[in-house]
Amino acid sequence: MPPRSFMRSPAIMRSPAMWEDEMAYRRTLLRIILWVIALVAFALSLSNLHHDVKTVSVMESCIALYCLVFLLRVQQTPYLLCWTSGLMLIIGSVIIYGMYSKGLYTDGFYWLLLMPPANLLLLGLLLGGVFTLCFGILGVAVMVWAQPALDGSLDIALLINASVSYLFLWGMSHIFELKRSQMVRQLREMAARDPMTGLHNRLHLENIFAQIAALHAKESTPFTLLLLDIDHFKHINDENGHEAGDMVLRQLSQCMTHHTRESDWLFRVGGEEFCILLPKTPKAKAIELAERLRTDVEQLHPMFHQHPIHFTVSIGLAQWPVDGGDFDGLYRQADMHLYEAKRQGRNQIVTGRG
Ligand code: GH3
Ligand code: MG
Ligand code: MG
Repeated sequence: MPPRSFMRSPAIMRSPAMWEDEMAYRRTLLRIILWVIALVAFALSLSNLHHDVKTVSVMESCIALYCLVFLLRVQQTPYLLCWTSGLMLIIGSVIIYGMYSKGLYTDGFYWLLLMPPANLLLLGLLLGGVFTLCFGILGVAVMVWAQPALDGSLDIALLINASVSYLFLWGMSHIFELKRSQMVRQLREMAARDPMTGLHNRLHLENIFAQIAALHAKESTPFTLLLLDIDHFKHINDENGHEAGDMVLRQLSQCMTHHTRESDWLFRVGGEEFCILLPKTPKAKAIELAERLRTDVEQLHPMFHQHPIHFTVSIGLAQWPVDGGDFDGLYRQADMHLYEAKRQGRNQIVTGRG
């Protein structure tokens, strides 16, 4: 069975914590870019004022001001994409207006070439692509429309050069951003997964727990945490070799995946220890699932070099919020129940009271 997607629950998929890295990257990038744009826009505004291009100068001052206000908000705002779209919209409009009004006619085209990389880097492939397309079309339209007024003829060579350069930069930026986002996704996936079983590793357990707890607090519904530990796993290794032990770990992971829903979260938290988070599941339902899982494992007998391997699991169970309201409390309770299951002879489930 293939490993399940890391982002399993749509509600959690869209939560800020999952996008933390990407947003942190954009915020850092924006902090630098905003300072640069604010200073450049301010300097250009002074220069255009000096050359008596007043409207463009006022617009450039507005860009500088927008950047300074954005800088104050960039670290905390949840509307980063809206702010960034606003910034690119204002900058693009000023460039197009500058070209149209001929205040920026000769160098406006060069400024427009900054749009594809900036849009794609700051807004992503889709939204950045839409912005790039719109400003590209507007740029060409303005060149065709406004240029004849300069000397009465349309400079076809300039138009073609400008369009090819723009498309080339767009293509390069698109490939760069596509590869970058694919690599970030792959690295994040690799960092979150245990390579042997394909289950999630310990890294995001607390993060996912916090998100599940927040969702359940809103809806006032319980969820359950299971801790599983393979019994006498050291014997399996000692008697059959490490490879057999690895195969048992994979078999158990598949069995866990088989017995859980798409909305459940499975983690390998240690060598032969696993954790399952069961959203919207009260203790009684979780016990049924744990019992099915335990009996199934007991009957698995996977073959290793024509030799059946018998193994069992002990399970400790705790329900949020009655057994613990935070991660540490609930995990500790499940761990105590697991310890009790071991102490009582293994191959069993301990759930505590309730
Ligand atoms: P108990 O029933 O009390 O849990 O006993 P146990 O033998 O399962 O537990 P113990 O902690 O004594 O041993 C765990 C063993 O798991 C020791 C370690 O070598 C083995 N182990 C840890 N990670 C891996 C792994 O990735 N592959 C294999 N094959 N063995 C592993
Ligand atoms: Mg153990
Ligand atoms: Mg064990």
